[in-house]
Amino acid sequence: MMANIVSDNKVVTLEYALHLDDGELVEESTNTEPLEYIHGIGQLIPGLEKSLAGMQVGESREVMLEADEGYGEYQEGLDEEIPMDSFPEDFEPEIDMPLVMTDDEGKEFTFYVTGFGEEGVIVSPNHPLAGETLHFNVKVLDVHDATDEELAHGHVHGDEEYEDE
Ligand SMILES: [Zn+2]
Repeated sequence: MMANIVSDNKVVTLEYALHLDDGELVEESTNTEPLEYIHGIGQLIPGLEKSLAGMQVGESREVMLEADEGYGEYQEGLDEEIPMDSFPEDFEPEIDMPLVMTDDEGKEFTFYVTGFGEEGVIVSPNHPLAGETLHFNVKVLDVHDATDEELAHGHVHGDEEYEDE
């Protein structure tokens, strides 16, 4: 029998906290639910996924990622203002909200709301944590095989009845 170590196509349950260099706490799973993801299919940022590989249930680790292994370097000068009338009427933008936009060829890009201008919403392709060094404390709570259906869908199905498309 294979040991339950973090490896490709396993469903991994994680407890984690994310701090920035200055000590600011950005996210902590104890405030929400433990994080569940399928290992090896790019659901986590690549540097974190790489660091988790091989960990066992019950094991804890500190993982430090430079910006290029995290959410990327911050790129200056890419902010754009998008007129409000290009959004649906009930659109309520908030700072750091991700917006997925499609170009003429159908390629999808994610932008993040960074502010509000006279005509509309200021957006940037920089992730809100771009340029930051990330400090994760992770603990592996559970590792088990993903089902064929979960692998086909590319996400974890919960215990409750799952509303799926
Ligand atoms: Zn599904």
